[in-house]
Amino acid sequence: MAEEHASLIEVLRALHFAAQKHRDQRRKDPEASPYVNHVIDVAETLARVGGVDDASMLQAAILHDTIEDTETSAAEIERVFGQEVQSLVTEMTDDKSLPKKERKRLQIEHAPHLSLRAKQIKLADKICNIRDVIYSPPENWPLERRLEYLDWSEQVVVGCRGCNSALEQCYDRILAEGRRLLTTHA
Ligand code: NDP
Ligand code: ZN
Repeated sequence: MAEEHASLIEVLRALHFAAQKHRDQRRKDPEASPYVNHVIDVAETLARVGGVDDASMLQAAILHDTIEDTETSAAEIERVFGQEVQSLVTEMTDDKSLPKKERKRLQIEHAPHLSLRAKQIKLADKICNIRDVIYSPPENWPLERRLEYLDWSEQVVVGCRGCNSALEQCYDRILAEGRRLLTTHA
Protein backbone atom coordinates (compact mmCIF):
# COMPACT_ATOMS: atom_id res chain seq x y z
CA MET A 1 0.00 0.00 0.00
CA ALA A 2 2.85 2.37 0.88
CA GLU A 3 4.43 1.49 -2.48
CA GLU A 4 1.17 2.15 -4.34
CA HIS A 5 0.83 5.47 -2.57
CA ALA A 6 4.40 6.41 -3.51
CA SER A 7 3.70 5.54 -7.18
CA LEU A 8 0.52 7.59 -7.15
CA ILE A 9 2.44 10.58 -5.82
CA GLU A 10 5.07 10.14 -8.56
CA VAL A 11 2.41 10.12 -11.28
CA LEU A 12 0.63 13.16 -9.83
CA ARG A 13 3.95 14.98 -9.58
CA ALA A 14 4.47 14.43 -13.33
CA LEU A 15 0.93 15.67 -14.01
CA HIS A 16 1.56 18.84 -12.02
CA PHE A 17 4.84 19.43 -13.90
CA ALA A 18 3.24 18.82 -17.36
CA ALA A 19 0.27 21.09 -16.56
CA GLN A 20 2.71 23.90 -15.69
CA LYS A 21 4.88 23.36 -18.75
CA HIS A 22 1.98 23.15 -21.23
CA ARG A 23 -0.06 25.90 -19.52
CA ASP A 24 0.01 28.29 -22.49
CA GLN A 25 -0.50 25.66 -25.21
CA ARG A 26 -3.65 24.54 -26.91
CA ARG A 27 -4.52 21.61 -29.19
CA LYS A 28 -5.45 22.26 -32.80
CA ASP A 29 -9.15 21.29 -32.48
CA PRO A 30 -11.76 24.02 -33.02
CA GLU A 31 -12.32 24.41 -29.26
CA ALA A 32 -8.54 24.79 -28.76
CA SER A 33 -8.57 22.34 -25.86
CA PRO A 34 -5.84 22.74 -23.24
CA TYR A 35 -2.77 20.84 -24.45
CA VAL A 36 -2.45 18.98 -21.17
CA ASN A 37 -5.71 17.15 -21.92
CA HIS A 38 -3.80 15.24 -24.62
CA VAL A 39 -1.08 13.94 -22.31
CA ILE A 40 -3.70 12.91 -19.72
CA ASP A 41 -5.53 11.10 -22.53
CA VAL A 42 -2.32 9.22 -23.49
CA ALA A 43 -1.54 8.20 -19.89
CA GLU A 44 -5.14 7.11 -19.28
CA THR A 45 -5.17 5.05 -22.50
CA LEU A 46 -1.89 3.39 -21.54
CA ALA A 47 -3.27 2.46 -18.10
CA ARG A 48 -6.90 1.62 -18.93
CA VAL A 49 -6.57 0.03 -22.38
CA GLY A 50 -2.96 -1.15 -22.16
CA GLY A 51 -3.19 -2.36 -18.55
CA VAL A 52 0.05 -0.56 -17.70
CA ASP A 53 0.67 0.15 -14.01
CA ASP A 54 4.39 0.98 -14.17
CA ALA A 55 4.69 4.46 -12.63
CA SER A 56 7.72 5.43 -14.75
CA MET A 57 5.84 4.63 -17.96
CA LEU A 58 2.80 6.61 -16.83
CA GLN A 59 5.05 9.53 -15.88
CA ALA A 60 6.80 9.36 -19.27
CA ALA A 61 3.41 9.30 -21.03
CA ILE A 62 2.39 12.43 -19.13
CA LEU A 63 5.72 14.10 -19.90
CA HIS A 64 6.08 12.81 -23.49
CA ASP A 65 5.67 16.19 -25.21
CA THR A 66 7.50 18.41 -22.69
CA ILE A 67 10.96 18.33 -24.30
CA GLU A 68 9.54 18.57 -27.82
CA ASP A 69 6.94 21.26 -27.25
CA THR A 70 7.95 23.30 -24.19
CA GLU A 71 11.06 24.91 -22.73
CA THR A 72 12.16 21.72 -21.01
CA SER A 73 15.49 19.96 -21.38
CA ALA A 74 16.30 16.29 -20.97
CA ALA A 75 18.60 17.33 -18.11
CA GLU A 76 15.68 18.95 -16.28
CA ILE A 77 13.51 15.84 -16.70
CA GLU A 78 16.38 13.73 -15.39
CA ARG A 79 16.93 16.00 -12.40
CA VAL A 80 13.26 16.07 -11.44
CA PHE A 81 12.14 12.54 -12.40
CA GLY A 82 15.31 10.47 -12.76
CA GLN A 83 17.19 8.79 -15.58
CA GLU A 84 14.62 6.11 -16.39
CA VAL A 85 11.82 8.60 -17.08
CA GLN A 86 14.21 10.94 -18.92
CA SER A 87 15.28 8.14 -21.22
CA LEU A 88 11.66 7.25 -22.10
CA VAL A 89 10.71 10.89 -22.73
CA THR A 90 13.80 11.34 -24.91
CA GLU A 91 12.74 8.30 -26.94
CA MET A 92 9.38 10.04 -27.54
CA THR A 93 11.02 13.30 -28.65
CA ASP A 94 11.42 14.30 -32.33
CA ASP A 95 14.38 16.42 -33.39
CA LYS A 96 12.69 19.77 -33.98
CA SER A 97 15.68 21.15 -35.89
CA LEU A 98 14.71 18.89 -38.80
CA PRO A 99 12.05 19.73 -41.38
CA LYS A 100 8.60 18.33 -40.56
CA LYS A 101 8.58 15.88 -43.45
CA GLU A 102 11.92 14.40 -42.37
CA ARG A 103 10.71 14.11 -38.77
CA LYS A 104 7.68 12.17 -39.91
CA ARG A 105 9.88 9.84 -41.96
CA LEU A 106 12.24 9.30 -39.02
CA GLN A 107 9.36 8.33 -36.72
CA ILE A 108 8.61 5.45 -39.08
CA GLU A 109 12.29 4.51 -39.29
CA HIS A 110 12.97 4.74 -35.53
CA ALA A 111 9.82 3.00 -34.22
CA PRO A 112 11.13 -0.60 -34.52
CA HIS A 113 14.26 0.39 -32.56
CA LEU A 114 12.45 1.93 -29.59
CA SER A 115 12.47 0.15 -26.21
CA LEU A 116 9.42 -2.02 -25.47
CA ARG A 117 8.20 0.55 -22.96
CA ALA A 118 8.57 3.48 -25.38
CA LYS A 119 6.73 1.50 -28.08
CA GLN A 120 3.71 1.19 -25.77
CA ILE A 121 3.69 4.92 -25.03
CA LYS A 122 4.01 5.61 -28.75
CA LEU A 123 1.06 3.30 -29.43
CA ALA A 124 -1.07 5.13 -26.85
CA ASP A 125 -0.04 8.48 -28.37
CA LYS A 126 -1.03 7.32 -31.84
CA ILE A 127 -4.38 5.99 -30.56
CA CYS A 128 -5.14 9.40 -29.04
CA ASN A 129 -3.98 11.35 -32.08
CA ILE A 130 -5.96 9.33 -34.61
CA ARG A 131 -9.01 9.59 -32.34
CA ASP A 132 -8.51 13.37 -32.42
CA VAL A 133 -7.97 13.42 -36.19
CA ILE A 134 -11.20 11.42 -36.64
CA TYR A 135 -13.48 13.07 -34.05
CA SER A 136 -12.00 16.49 -33.23
CA PRO A 137 -9.59 17.29 -36.05
CA PRO A 138 -7.43 20.36 -36.39
CA GLU A 139 -9.34 23.24 -37.88
CA ASN A 140 -9.10 23.56 -41.65
CA TRP A 141 -7.71 20.09 -42.29
CA PRO A 142 -9.30 18.72 -45.46
CA LEU A 143 -10.44 15.10 -45.46
CA GLU A 144 -7.43 14.10 -47.54
CA ARG A 145 -4.98 15.38 -44.92
CA ARG A 146 -6.85 13.52 -42.16
CA LEU A 147 -6.70 10.29 -44.18
CA GLU A 148 -2.98 10.85 -44.89
CA TYR A 149 -2.40 11.23 -41.15
CA LEU A 150 -4.12 7.88 -40.53
CA ASP A 151 -1.90 6.25 -43.20
CA TRP A 152 1.28 7.72 -41.70
CA SER A 153 0.36 6.72 -38.14
CA GLU A 154 -0.27 3.17 -39.36
CA GLN A 155 3.30 3.00 -40.67
CA VAL A 156 4.70 4.17 -37.33
CA VAL A 157 2.53 1.63 -35.50
CA VAL A 158 3.91 -1.23 -37.64
CA GLY A 159 7.22 -0.68 -35.85
CA CYS A 160 5.58 -0.67 -32.41
CA ARG A 161 3.77 -4.01 -32.70
CA GLY A 162 4.45 -7.05 -30.54
CA CYS A 163 4.60 -5.28 -27.17
CA ASN A 164 0.97 -4.80 -26.07
CA SER A 165 -1.83 -6.55 -27.94
CA ALA A 166 -4.63 -4.63 -26.18
CA LEU A 167 -3.22 -1.30 -27.37
CA GLU A 168 -2.60 -2.69 -30.85
CA GLN A 169 -6.16 -4.00 -31.12
CA CYS A 170 -7.55 -0.69 -29.87
CA TYR A 171 -5.49 1.19 -32.47
CA ASP A 172 -6.64 -1.18 -35.27
CA ARG A 173 -10.29 -0.80 -34.28
CA ILE A 174 -10.18 3.01 -34.20
CA LEU A 175 -8.20 3.16 -37.46
CA ALA A 176 -10.75 0.96 -39.26
CA GLU A 177 -13.67 2.94 -37.80
CA GLY A 178 -11.98 6.22 -38.79
CA ARG A 179 -11.37 5.14 -42.35
CA ARG A 180 -14.97 3.98 -42.62
CA LEU A 181 -16.35 7.23 -41.19
CA LEU A 182 -14.09 9.54 -43.20
CA THR A 183 -14.60 7.76 -46.50
CA THR A 184 -18.40 7.38 -46.02
CA HIS A 185 -18.77 11.09 -45.34
CA ALA A 186 -16.65 12.03 -48.36
P1 NDP B 1 1.07 17.96 -38.14
O1 NDP B 1 2.27 17.22 -37.71
O2 NDP B 1 1.18 19.37 -38.60
O3 NDP B 1 -0.03 17.94 -36.96
C1 NDP B 1 -0.41 16.74 -36.33
C2 NDP B 1 0.14 16.74 -34.93
O4 NDP B 1 -0.42 17.82 -34.21
C3 NDP B 1 -0.26 15.49 -34.19
O5 NDP B 1 0.70 14.48 -34.39
C4 NDP B 1 -0.35 15.99 -32.76
O6 NDP B 1 0.97 15.92 -32.21
C5 NDP B 1 -0.72 17.45 -32.87
N1 NDP B 1 -2.14 17.82 -32.64
C6 NDP B 1 -2.58 18.87 -31.92
N2 NDP B 1 -3.92 18.96 -31.93
C7 NDP B 1 -4.36 17.92 -32.66
C8 NDP B 1 -5.67 17.48 -33.02
N3 NDP B 1 -6.79 18.09 -32.62
N4 NDP B 1 -5.77 16.38 -33.80
C9 NDP B 1 -4.65 15.74 -34.19
N5 NDP B 1 -3.39 16.11 -33.90
C10 NDP B 1 -3.24 17.20 -33.12
O7 NDP B 1 0.26 17.18 -39.24
P2 NDP B 1 0.60 16.32 -40.51
O8 NDP B 1 0.92 14.95 -40.09
O9 NDP B 1 -0.52 16.45 -41.45
O10 NDP B 1 1.88 17.04 -41.13
C11 NDP B 1 2.70 16.33 -41.99
C12 NDP B 1 3.46 17.20 -42.95
O11 NDP B 1 2.62 17.58 -44.05
C13 NDP B 1 3.92 18.48 -42.37
O12 NDP B 1 5.18 18.76 -42.91
C14 NDP B 1 2.88 19.48 -42.83
O13 NDP B 1 3.42 20.79 -42.85
C15 NDP B 1 2.61 18.97 -44.22
N6 NDP B 1 1.33 19.40 -44.78
C16 NDP B 1 0.44 18.47 -45.25
C17 NDP B 1 -0.75 18.84 -45.83
C18 NDP B 1 -1.69 17.80 -46.29
O14 NDP B 1 -2.75 18.13 -46.81
N7 NDP B 1 -1.37 16.53 -46.15
C19 NDP B 1 -1.11 20.24 -45.97
C20 NDP B 1 -0.15 21.13 -45.41
C21 NDP B 1 1.02 20.70 -44.86
P3 NDP B 1 1.35 15.42 -30.71
O15 NDP B 1 1.29 13.95 -30.64
O16 NDP B 1 2.76 15.91 -30.61
O17 NDP B 1 0.43 16.06 -29.79
ZN1 ZN C 1 1.49 13.37 -28.13
